[in-house]
Amino acid sequence: MVQSAVLGFPRIGPNRELKKITESYWKGKASVDELLKVGKDIRVANWKLQKEAGVDIIPSNDFSYYDQVLDLSLLFNVVPERYTKYDLPLLDIMFAMGRGLQRKATETSKAIDVTALEMVKWFDSNYHYVRPTFSHSTEFKLNGQKPVDEFLEAKELGIQTRPVLLGPVSFLLLGKADKGSLDLEPLSLLDKLLPLYKELLTKLQVAGATEVQLDEPVLVLDLEKSAQSAIRKAYEYLGKQPGLPRITLATYFGTTLPNLDSLKKLPIGGLHFDFVRAPEQFDKVLNIIEKDQVLSVGIVDGRNIWKNNFAKSSELVGKAVSKLGSDRVVVATSSSLLHTPVDLENEPKLDPEIKDWFSFATQKVKEVVIIRKNVAGEDVKAELEANAKSVASRAASKRTNDEAVQKRVASINEKLSTRSAPFAQRLAEQKKVFDFPLFPTTTIGSFPQTKDIRINRNKFVKGTISAEEYEKFINSEIESVIRFQEEVGLDFLVHGEPERNDMVQYFGEKIQGYTFTINGWVQSYGSRYVRPPIIVGDLSRPEAMSVKESVYAQSITTKPVKGMLTGPVTCLRWSFPRDDVDQKTQAMQLALALRDEVNDLEAAGIKVIQVDEPAIREGLPLRAGDERSAYLRWAAQAFRVATSGVQSKTQIHSHFCYSDLDPSHIKALDADVVSIEFSKKDDPNYIAEFKEYPNHIGLGLFDIHSPRVPSKEEFISKIENILKSYPADKFWVNPDCGLKTREWDETRASLTNMVAAAKHFREQY
Ligand code: GLN
Ligand code: ZN
Repeated sequence: MVQSAVLGFPRIGPNRELKKITESYWKGKASVDELLKVGKDIRVANWKLQKEAGVDIIPSNDFSYYDQVLDLSLLFNVVPERYTKYDLPLLDIMFAMGRGLQRKATETSKAIDVTALEMVKWFDSNYHYVRPTFSHSTEFKLNGQKPVDEFLEAKELGIQTRPVLLGPVSFLLLGKADKGSLDLEPLSLLDKLLPLYKELLTKLQVAGATEVQLDEPVLVLDLEKSAQSAIRKAYEYLGKQPGLPRITLATYFGTTLPNLDSLKKLPIGGLHFDFVRAPEQFDKVLNIIEKDQVLSVGIVDGRNIWKNNFAKSSELVGKAVSKLGSDRVVVATSSSLLHTPVDLENEPKLDPEIKDWFSFATQKVKEVVIIRKNVAGEDVKAELEANAKSVASRAASKRTNDEAVQKRVASINEKLSTRSAPFAQRLAEQKKVFDFPLFPTTTIGSFPQTKDIRINRNKFVKGTISAEEYEKFINSEIESVIRFQEEVGLDFLVHGEPERNDMVQYFGEKIQGYTFTINGWVQSYGSRYVRPPIIVGDLSRPEAMSVKESVYAQSITTKPVKGMLTGPVTCLRWSFPRDDVDQKTQAMQLALALRDEVNDLEAAGIKVIQVDEPAIREGLPLRAGDERSAYLRWAAQAFRVATSGVQSKTQIHSHFCYSDLDPSHIKALDADVVSIEFSKKDDPNYIAEFKEYPNHIGLGLFDIHSPRVPSKEEFISKIENILKSYPADKFWVNPDCGLKTREWDETRASLTNMVAAAKHFREQY
């Protein structure tokens, strides 16, 4: 019998229960028991939901209080010594690794001060994982048994689950060597790590698990020979251990074709592939499935919100069944559903026409089951008919097409995407406008989003305060942020973004062709969730989106205030994109809308405009080749289309974060100044790479994900270190990213120390 499987379910709860409880735990307002109870309730609800929907293979250990990769680091004792010396409970060690910890000494405990581990984007998604950080002194051992506990928890409810774990090769390859052990190659630790997996799988088997899902998403990357052999070695080793649960090795987010040889004839129970993202691998994959293996057909999209096309999916699954037989085929989600919102039923405000085109995690679970039933010959006629109707309605809808926009995109040319003078000339003209010092200081845009801001925004959305009252409130916030920055002594100011709930959603709501949800939250990292807007049709800007706030901010200070926009690629990447139009076209539509906004800002007297592109790196196709080169060309061009309409004396900034950035990728954007997340990059080679970057750069000097306050001395030594390989005359001083998630006290202290350090160097040069 064909089976159905889900690779992972969102763990934030239908109403962001996990966020609320973890944040109050961090503040000391909720107890451990309260936190653990909410966690358990979410897991139980998720399992029951899947069980009731009729899913055959339900995941466990897909839950996490922070990040599933961090859980694994903790489980295998990949915990740098700096986190273990305070005798913290395991849970708090985990949070300290994820977000840093700074605590004053009390009568009974000593002071704590540790930075967070590095956080990086999960492949090309907007999820971020905490990077496993290995050193020569890493000693693998099992710390607790989270996967076993969660398996047993489900078992107690009478639900048999398939535990999910990141596989050993991905765990190592996605990690890095700690400072002080930079010569360590994580993959060289495989032999030491494998026995731990064996130990864990044995425990799972003793607990009653018959199957496990080991995720090896690195198989969709360009792998060196050594990594390919590591895959073989790991699964030959684990697969040959007698009595362990059956292993399904799962890959997702791309094609495995170049690495397919390493998956042939492995002694494991099954393989999972993502045929939503990479249908081209289907035929070749079918040929490598062994007689005793099962093929898991990833066909319900774990990364987007469009309704599945049952007829098409059933046809593909049917092909697999006719080749392998129904006992050897599983219908599955393409990846974990972590990247989709929890439940479409939580969206009472969506236009019914559009809502009928969507499917969120809860609906996708049902889709997997319906496709399975259809392929198995069970009666799902009504579901199929309804599905065919929605698919047809979307394709034919007027809401998707705007001829004027399509024409404008077709007219984009080189001239429209090139600034009127080269950088050196622009810089000279900009210097005349604002005579900025060496080591100019600035921030990335947002300032703490306080409760007061959220309350007032909610009131405005609900209509309990008028537009005038709200504007007055926002202006008073802007004013206090401006005064704050003047006091601290920053050189280039920002308005603080108090009017923005989220940097993409805010613009999404003002751009035609978008729709947005009220509850469509998706985890981005830790307790940070985003609510991606959805691109439904051709995109255009009916009116100015940000001019009012920027103009007000500039009107109350003599220092330059940066206009602040979200770039076209980031708007695209952090939305759910259309799947009926290519990404480049959607990016160009956004670029044109932003170009109008940039030009309007300039016309209104704004002299510095920052167009953030933090998502530009995550959009990079995972493999080298034509698709990647094309992406780099169109992504950079979209940015230039947005920013090239201004005069040379207008300074264009951009900002990037959360990823290993290659300076060559950002060069083509031709921004005058870029700011980059940098505080946790301690590799001198990485710093040196930026030396050749022709324009100005602010290398981020402190981690904004952590409440920790670096001292002036710490800033000085950081800057000193960077100056060893990076020139002073192109050096801007700024934090890693926006300060929206921080508290005011920390923000004041950190920025004061940062500005003091900049002044220290100004005096020396
Ligand atoms: N300007 C935005 C802010 O400061 C940038 C956020 C980001 O890069 N993620 O919040
Ligand atoms: Zn950022």
